[in-house]
Amino acid sequence: MLLILLQLLVFASCAPPRCDPKFRAKCTDLMLSYCDDMPYAQTMFPNILGHKTREDAEAGAEYLLISVAESLLGGDCNPEIRMLGCSVLAPRCEKEKVLKPCRSTCEAVRRRCSRTFDKIQMAWPYFLDCDRFFVSDQEGCYDPLEGLRGQEEEEAADGLDILLTADSPDTLQFTYHSNTDLISVLKKTEEQCSGIARTYSIGRSMEGRELLVIEFSNNPGEHELLEPEVKYIGNMHGNEVLGRQLLIYLAQHLCSEYLLGNERIQTLINTTRIHILPSMNPDGYELAVSGVSDNNYDFEQEDQRYDSWNIGRNNAQNIDLNRNFPDLTSIVYRRRRQKGYRTDHILIPDYYWFGKVAPETYAVMKWVRSIPFVLSANFHGGDLVVSYPYDLSKHPLGHEMFCPTPDDKVFKFIAATYANAHETMSNENARCGSSRTQSQKGIVNAAQWSSLAGGMQDFNYLHTNCFEVTVNVGCDRFPPEEELAFAWHENQESLLSFMETAHRGIKGIVKDEKGNAIKGARISVRGIQHDITTAENGDYWRLLTPGIHIVSASGQGYTRATKRIQVPSRMKTAGRVDFVLPKAPVNFDPQEEDFSSYDKFDPYNQYQHYTQMADLSQNQEERAEKPWWWNYFALPGVPSPTWLLKQY
Ligand SMILES: [Zn+2]
Repeated sequence: MLLILLQLLVFASCAPPRCDPKFRAKCTDLMLSYCDDMPYAQTMFPNILGHKTREDAEAGAEYLLISVAESLLGGDCNPEIRMLGCSVLAPRCEKEKVLKPCRSTCEAVRRRCSRTFDKIQMAWPYFLDCDRFFVSDQEGCYDPLEGLRGQEEEEAADGLDILLTADSPDTLQFTYHSNTDLISVLKKTEEQCSGIARTYSIGRSMEGRELLVIEFSNNPGEHELLEPEVKYIGNMHGNEVLGRQLLIYLAQHLCSEYLLGNERIQTLINTTRIHILPSMNPDGYELAVSGVSDNNYDFEQEDQRYDSWNIGRNNAQNIDLNRNFPDLTSIVYRRRRQKGYRTDHILIPDYYWFGKVAPETYAVMKWVRSIPFVLSANFHGGDLVVSYPYDLSKHPLGHEMFCPTPDDKVFKFIAATYANAHETMSNENARCGSSRTQSQKGIVNAAQWSSLAGGMQDFNYLHTNCFEVTVNVGCDRFPPEEELAFAWHENQESLLSFMETAHRGIKGIVKDEKGNAIKGARISVRGIQHDITTAENGDYWRLLTPGIHIVSASGQGYTRATKRIQVPSRMKTAGRVDFVLPKAPVNFDPQEEDFSSYDKFDPYNQYQHYTQMADLSQNQEERAEKPWWWNYFALPGVPSPTWLLKQY
């Protein structure tokens, strides 16, 4: 880059032979073979980039790029990119004068094609910089794509249609999406549905890959008063890949159906804030993909197949992310005989931070604490069942046993909502995998099936207001691509119905007598030893099953208020139950004592450590793993065209 800049500088100030007053550059025949369809026959050297001769131009990385652009870009944006390049490398020459190409043409191509470059992680080439090498109409430019125009105009009428369909997010691609494809599909969906969609990152994986979330809401980027928030997380185990694909399709489906005016989807998005993280473990996925090809190669060797079933399951540090969350369940079990013990907002014990916390786990913990999520599902593979908390068995030896939470009814209800809406999951004949002996109609208590400590769903329930279940979408962890379309069809209704259950139960606002919202007030339901707390603006959501409930609200320094409510069996929106709490005479509730310490996340400031780690590994990755096309350009003895790399 520096070299090229220097060259340019030299050229601009005093480029021999131009410095020689006797020298007059002349038009010469355009002899670059990749430019032979340009709408002119003469060019001049030095060219706009300062190449002094045709040979110079041919030897440069710029010419190499336009000669391979067709295959690099998978046929997209060609011949436009090539012709635009030619207009700079071999500019039009008339009457011994160089004519410069039009900026407007360059800008139009760039608008249309920069995404294609993004897709292959290539920077927009510096020599196609519209401001630098192209000029306006007033400055006497010519259109380098002139030759294409006639052709294009003929196709223009239906061409627009074709473009729209080809670009529209509802064309689901039933093939696996690489990590790069995943990011670009989410970004494209965000662009197409910019009014209701937004992507954001919650952090990076161990190897520096972005953990990208796409959010849907009628007000993306903001929590709206009384609007419940739900999340979907896929690919926590890197080799369990179907959920990841389903979530990509779901994002595209939500976007396209909203635009098409689908009333159900519009209502859902207008009343719910939806967050989708298709891959929590992109590093593991990368490994799993290579594992699958290994498998295919050696598929005769049964032993190797057996060994490789879990390739890519863990993150890049070989940590199983679904064992890496703080084990709060053991704490609850230990305290269960104490008077007034709680099963909500359990603090993360200090010792947790001295263990190995994966950056992916860290990112998700921070995320679930920062948004008032109500409902969540976490997608796995290897079985066909929805499992619900607790994950960890109460049995002293960890033997499998039924270990319900105080919200067992709610969990059974939301788990069954997914299973019943699924094409086959609730059908006993469709059972597969090890849950077979324990599951009923497609749902199972996780501890009864297979006990584990440090799981994500227990953490959600015991540390936040969010109710999470684990959806196992099929026994094949990495099903063949031919099955993706069918799997989407099987799960589509479940994915929607499940999110709609965020509106089951009650919601409301807790205020003081002056009308100020009370943050962190507790909503308790008689008979359920698990409170929900109010969010920033005093709003809360309490998932409940149909029936009569006695609900009360309390807050430190306020008098408790109680209401009797009835949740009907059919409901589309949560019942609204507000509370006004009068100030209490000095009455300190010892239960509230340690609540302020809940806000202290990450007491040893590991965050710094994790971001540094991610940055470091990202840099390493850049040095070690250049994009696949890099080898085309890294030729010995030639300065590497680092301007093609996005991160430079
Ligand atoms: Zn799993």
